[in-house]
Amino acid sequence: MGETNQTHAAKAPALGVKWAHTRESSGSCPKCQYRLPRLLDSGPPYFRDGFVVCEKCKERVDLWQAALDHAKMLKETAWALEWIGAGNTAFLVSMKAGDYCEIELTEHAVPANARILSTNFTSQGGPNGAVTALEWHGNTPQPRRNQGTKLRLWAIPLGDGAASRIGDVAISAVWLRPDDSAAWPYLVSAFESVAEKDYAPALVFAQSAVEASMMPLISDRFGRHASAERVKNFMKGALTYGYALNVVLPYICAELKLPKIPDPIRGALNKMRDERNDIIHEGSRRAGITADDAIEGLCAAAFGFEYMRFIAPSFSRPNE
Ligand SMILES: [Zn+2]
Repeated sequence: MGETNQTHAAKAPALGVKWAHTRESSGSCPKCQYRLPRLLDSGPPYFRDGFVVCEKCKERVDLWQAALDHAKMLKETAWALEWIGAGNTAFLVSMKAGDYCEIELTEHAVPANARILSTNFTSQGGPNGAVTALEWHGNTPQPRRNQGTKLRLWAIPLGDGAASRIGDVAISAVWLRPDDSAAWPYLVSAFESVAEKDYAPALVFAQSAVEASMMPLISDRFGRHASAERVKNFMKGALTYGYALNVVLPYICAELKLPKIPDPIRGALNKMRDERNDIIHEGSRRAGITADDAIEGLCAAAFGFEYMRFIAPSFSRPNE
């Protein structure tokens, strides 16, 4: 028996993950197409200098435009999110129809507690017919967000032919890393909404992410020269998001000799504010929010969030 099994094993294609790779980047160089580092790393030099330098050809690249262009090209798919802050882990897995298989994404460079935004399974054919994967769930299917980082898969035959077959399946998972900041959950919800093509809530959450990361910075500065109560009332009752973004933030940044938020990003945030206000106050534009609007808004929010992270240490430094 042992010998028969060994012979069979030697003839069968290897089952399991054949290769896996994880990518995080924020667009690519328009000149040589080399991928730029992820937003978390390329954001600070971009905010400081107004460009990033392509590691390969040394071209000065407008990071905002590079990220937005790539995301808009893929706007109808969750792969768009890969260019504006999310990661993408792709596998080629050999599967036998009828077999159950689990893949723990954290074993393939996905951070623990990452939020999986989207999964994709594409059959690559097989010598005896194609195989694809179905995601398994318990009696009550849960939204993707509640399923952690493990993929639970059943391999099934795709198309005519013998039920027993082995084939390759290309799998990709788009995910967002965890982050400790208080505004991060809003950004996660915005990414999730875009992944689900629910664009109106995406804009509401995206703006909230920027607002929640910007307002405490401004409030802290005001609190140096006014009572906590006065500042709180001013922030709550008088200082709108628009004035904070367009007047107060640039003013304080200039006073602190910090680079201002890049104009195209501020412009996109203003456009999103108008769309968000239409959604909140009139409700009528909800259906009119397009994939382009959502991608541009989310991109602006992701950059805006990283900009606030970039200026935060200087905002909190003691007065000289
Ligand atoms: Zn280049």
